Amino acid sequence: MANDASTVFDLVILGGGSGGYAAALRAAQLGLDVALIEKNKLGGTCLHQGCIPTKALLHAGEIADQARESEQFGVKATFEGIDIAAVLKYKDDVISGLYKGLQGLVASRKVTYIEGEGRLSSPTSVDVNGQRIEGRHVLLATGSVPRSLPGLTIDGNRIISSDHALVLDRVPKSAIILGGGVIGVEFASAWKSFGTDVTIVEGLPHLVPVEDENSSKLLERAFRKRGIKFNLGTFFQSAEYTADGVKVTLADGKTFEGEVLLVAIGRGPVSQNLGYEEQGVAIDRGYVLVDEYMRTNVPTISAVGDLVPTLQLAHVGFAEGILVAERLAGLKTVPIDYDGVPRVTYCHPEVASVGITEAKAKEVYGADKVVTLKYNLAGNGRSKILKTSGEVKLVQVRDGAVVGVHMVGDRMGEQVGEAQLIYNWEALPAEVAQLIHAHPTQSEALGEAHLALAGKPLHSHD
Ligand SMILES: Cc1cc2nc3c(=O)[nH]c(=O)nc-3n(C[C@H](O)[C@H](O)[C@H](O)COP(=O)(O)OP(=O)(O)OC[C@H]3O[C@@H](n4cnc5c(N)ncnc54)[C@H](O)[C@@H]3O)c2cc1C
Repeated sequence: MANDASTVFDLVILGGGSGGYAAALRAAQLGLDVALIEKNKLGGTCLHQGCIPTKALLHAGEIADQARESEQFGVKATFEGIDIAAVLKYKDDVISGLYKGLQGLVASRKVTYIEGEGRLSSPTSVDVNGQRIEGRHVLLATGSVPRSLPGLTIDGNRIISSDHALVLDRVPKSAIILGGGVIGVEFASAWKSFGTDVTIVEGLPHLVPVEDENSSKLLERAFRKRGIKFNLGTFFQSAEYTADGVKVTLADGKTFEGEVLLVAIGRGPVSQNLGYEEQGVAIDRGYVLVDEYMRTNVPTISAVGDLVPTLQLAHVGFAEGILVAERLAGLKTVPIDYDGVPRVTYCHPEVASVGITEAKAKEVYGADKVVTLKYNLAGNGRSKILKTSGEVKLVQVRDGAVVGVHMVGDRMGEQVGEAQLIYNWEALPAEVAQLIHAHPTQSEALGEAHLALAGKPLHSHD
């Protein structure tokens, strides 16, 4: 292949999703000469098939619920139904506005943006559109795609992935959702709000199984109340088409039928046939292996985002991309504390957390060293006004810092900003108790929980 480029970039990035474009923007800001190669759309999964479109659907669902429940607030409104074409247009308008903004940002930072499917061709180059793009360093950021199970073929019509669910031009009458993790429960929530009869099938004992068990139980209670059905603790065995839908059979023989089956069992890294292994990049089960500075075993190659075995979140991709850019620009960088990454599941009610679970804390510090406190949102004025219920649970190392904050309740995702400061600054309960929270806000629930943990509860019992 001809190397017609006299330019050798400081950094060549393969993949323009959260991880790749964040690295490009930061590296360019630091004066590096950057090429960013993207085969589809700048912004990647998060902007086009992930964070943003799902939250738009969830918001439309919230409005539908509010219309249905308006009488509880003394407001006369009637819910007439979902105009799915209009919902999709609203979602697409949100995406296209952000997409334009991002394209402008990348152009304004003077990043060389190359549209095309790239392939790693040496430890310092990527081939794309018949051209060899040379760099002093290469960043792999090719992300992830929906996974399926052996024998379960995603047909895009009745057996679908989240990519299909986001463009579905109808509200299914009924849906089986395989997987009760973040993506599964978010779709369950949105579809239920749209009027779908939803059943989640999760092989592990709880919904959102990586969260603190208390959060899972609160979510399960709330979903039960909303009429979202779920079957826990038994794994999927098979799926077959019926006359007008899909039948799912579990390992214990139980069956469930729905108009569609959404497969939401996780996402797998995009690393095959891209030249990674040929160039000697170490890979484990498809994931590119990196150290805490996002360096692969090949000195000129780094990797970030869903492609590496860290938390699959957009803001993790941003942080990893920024870390690589700053390291290459010669700035001092520190490894990411992944426990300190805030996590939000945007279903109704929301589940938000940072730090470690009670079970993990007991493992790490010993059961006798771990103190927990639960503050019920029933005592929080703002939550009462919103008619939401839930809890803030704190996990503290006895006489030490708060190492876990776990929250459930509508809009509690917005409180994770403060929670992550508490965790990441290793705040003591007494220090947080000293800070004044505005009344009436849901942030007070965090304040009150810390007041209680510091031994001076205000709106809760001793
Ligand atoms: C339904 C859903 C909801 C989600 N909700 C949230 C949320 O609320 N909050 C959150 O933090 N995260 C959420 N995520 C996760 C988030 O979207 C990902 O963690 C994030 O997009 C990962 O960024 P990335 O850059 O690693 O990969 P991606 O965003 O997948 O980007 C990789 C890019 O590389 C490109 N590419 C791949 N191969 C090539 C090639 N050979 N040549 C050129 N380009 C290539 C792809 O086209 C893609 O644009 C959600 C994901 C899904 C699926």
